[in-house]
Amino acid sequence: MRGHRNDLLLAAAVLALAAAVWLFFSRPGGDGAWAVVTVDGAEVGRYALDEDRTVTIGETDYNVLEISGGRAAVVEASCADHTCVRTGWISREGETIVCLPHRLMVRIQGASGGPDAVAR
Ligand SMILES: [Zn+2]
Repeated sequence: MRGHRNDLLLAAAVLALAAAVWLFFSRPGGDGAWAVVTVDGAEVGRYALDEDRTVTIGETDYNVLEISGGRAAVVEASCADHTCVRTGWISREGETIVCLPHRLMVRIQGASGGPDAVAR
């Protein structure tokens, strides 16, 4: 049983390295997807779906974009129709949330294709 402890240490080191590599490659560009926000067709921001956060876009006319658990949604908005809020959560490549009154659009970009993404 000599060397057993060293094997464990080695295994732990390999696991830690694998985790580090995985974290590195799962950043945007790998599996990472973005929520791209445009207003009037101009990009105003892009947020990685793997980082939970809440962003307020605009001031008087605002949309609150929430990113949580790899999904994005407009959870609050000052627009009249609230279509953007009712759209709910999006997470797949090409899905969009549109706020017509604010000319705002949130689009998912770079998501790895699941079964639903094939039939586009
Ligand atoms: Zn809206």
